[in-house]
Amino acid sequence: MNIKEIFKEKKTVFSFEIFPPKTTSSIETIYKTLEELKDINPDYISVTYGAGGSIKDNKTVELSSLVKNKYGIEAVAHLTCISSTNEDIQYYLKSLEENNIENILALRGDIPIGGEVKGEFKYATELITNIKKNGNFNIAAACYPEGHTENRGLVQEIENMKRKEAAGAAYFISQLFFDNNLYYNFLDKVKGANINIPIEAGIMPVTNKKQIERMITLSGASLPQKFVKIMEKYEHNPEALRDAGIAYAVEQIVDLISSGVDGIHLYVMNNPYLANKISGSIGNILATVNKK
Ligand code: FAD
Repeated sequence: MNIKEIFKEKKTVFSFEIFPPKTTSSIETIYKTLEELKDINPDYISVTYGAGGSIKDNKTVELSSLVKNKYGIEAVAHLTCISSTNEDIQYYLKSLEENNIENILALRGDIPIGGEVKGEFKYATELITNIKKNGNFNIAAACYPEGHTENRGLVQEIENMKRKEAAGAAYFISQLFFDNNLYYNFLDKVKGANINIPIEAGIMPVTNKKQIERMITLSGASLPQKFVKIMEKYEHNPEALRDAGIAYAVEQIVDLISSGVDGIHLYVMNNPYLANKISGSIGNILATVNKK
């Protein structure tokens, strides 16, 4: 099913993001995770694309196919273009078609360390245009509530979102954030710019200190004082930190759903425990807003 249709049916879409197992381990290691995620019944699961390496060795299509064709959950396959040739992209699109996958999250990808770029695409917009031309896919794009790390301003971010929407993106998924007020400020600006396609809020439950440091470096997300206090208090007690991270994410999500956001995209990091805990806490809330 085209994800656009799910946004039409539901007030608030609820989706998960997972990643393919490391290239050295087999795809079967993900079966147990998917069995458990399936029982939660998310609207869709997106599968990340590992930048670097050959497009043919990438396990994103294989895992997206499992999600869709074995577990019966709608799948969104991520794709980055910065290190790919047009031939690579066409190969990937064909593999998606062969596996009956209709939805793609079209991304540029991070500039490789050293800055050497082999690909033929400079920005995500060029990839969106190319995909639009070469198939009948539903295309999602990324957005950044605090601006992209290379370009912190929201003015530049919103200009870029307009380019992506004009090229054919049907909806956005946001970068993770920990401060809902920043997100609401971003949404006001987006609406003011007349961008009207749905935007899903990206939420990452933080469960260990190393993960926080890595995520903050990659995303540049601001940390509210309340969040920092929790992390400092429990950094040496993994279970307490995990519980506090889940509680923080649930509080964020309840507030977002109550404020009428289009969707929640949960970065579950292949961890069904997290997905179960969070889904269990918001199940009645989601059911209420999505009641027909
Ligand atoms: P773009 O939209 O191309 O933007 C990149 C930068 O270029 C921005 O600063 C933008 O303002 C600027 N820009 C764009 N167009 C122009 C223009 N015409 N003129 C001047 N400046 C311009 N990475 C992975 O490797 N694999 C994944 O699976 C993955 N999944 C992600 C999922 C989500 C929801 C998000 C938010 C990010 C994900 N990423 C992933 C990370 C993403 O690849 C990086 O954030 C990357 O640096 C930017 O990708 P983009 O598609 O947003 O790029």
